Amino acid sequence: MRELPDPAPAPHGAVIRVEATGLCRSDWHGWQGHDPDIRVLPHVPGHELAGVVEAVGSEVRDWRPGARVTVPFVCACGSCTACATGEQQVCERQTQPGFTHWGSYAELVAIDHADVNLIAIPEEMAAVTAAGLGCRFATSFRAVAQVGRVRPGEWVAVHGCGGVGLSAVMIATAAGARVVAVDISTDALHLAEQAGATHFVDGSAGDAAAQVRELTRGGAHVSLDALGSPQTCAASVESLRRRGRHVQVGLLPGGPTPVPMDRVIALELSLLGSHGMAAHAYPPMLEMIRAGLLHPDQLITRTIGLADAGKALASLGSVPGVTMITPGFPI
Ligand SMILES: [Zn+2]
Ligand SMILES: [Zn+2]
Repeated sequence: MRELPDPAPAPHGAVIRVEATGLCRSDWHGWQGHDPDIRVLPHVPGHELAGVVEAVGSEVRDWRPGARVTVPFVCACGSCTACATGEQQVCERQTQPGFTHWGSYAELVAIDHADVNLIAIPEEMAAVTAAGLGCRFATSFRAVAQVGRVRPGEWVAVHGCGGVGLSAVMIATAAGARVVAVDISTDALHLAEQAGATHFVDGSAGDAAAQVRELTRGGAHVSLDALGSPQTCAASVESLRRRGRHVQVGLLPGGPTPVPMDRVIALELSLLGSHGMAAHAYPPMLEMIRAGLLHPDQLITRTIGLADAGKALASLGSVPGVTMITPGFPI
């Protein structure tokens, strides 16, 4: 940990005083050198954040210092073709704090295009809860509700029950689906049960996809690879019944990934990608949280100070559930 100059906002941007920031597998990938955006060291990771607006640039219309806000991890430009059609999560000129520029493992973080990307945090929501929405929870919400279009009564398989997977279990359960949780960790499966899963597959006990197909009598309607590995991607596709939908949520930074395309054609499967969620798509999710249908705070298993962030990043995965970092926490 070291002292750095305070960031200044771009004319269209804002600087946010960080109250909470999440420890995510994507940060770990960045630290491992898997992210092509991170080339110059030193670098500040962190892309799931919540805090208070400290300063805004001269062109910002909608925000003033003092507002409590969070942001999607994909920060959009607001003016490219994707943004113009409302698809800010795949913006052509996107920035991602902690990747394309310094992120939120800090007291202050600069965010571009504040009017496009800042989201007001409901008054009653704690900063640690809001921070956790920015990447994993919102990503899972879009993957389950908008991309996978999970309907009541459907079987949903979730491969990998870390932060993304547990969020997906909770959201699919709230959508009325029957959820099969797949993981190699019994602790993770226990958390999945608390999040609403009713059926469980120990991925270390042989063919996970065959176990899902047996439990669901023919396969899941929707299956998510919430981890991101060639094994979980293939297992997710192989878990599906005829006409099923696979949603890839976990990042696959290793390059092209083999997919069992013989099954895709024979069973008419759909392969779908899901990449974050635009700021303007947050209200239905925030409303479900307010109504008590979703409890993202239940996924947070520990809160640590900034001084412990490096150690926690290096041992990511050793503690089940979601770890939050609070820069203001006593060190
Ligand atoms: Zn993340
Ligand atoms: Zn754009």
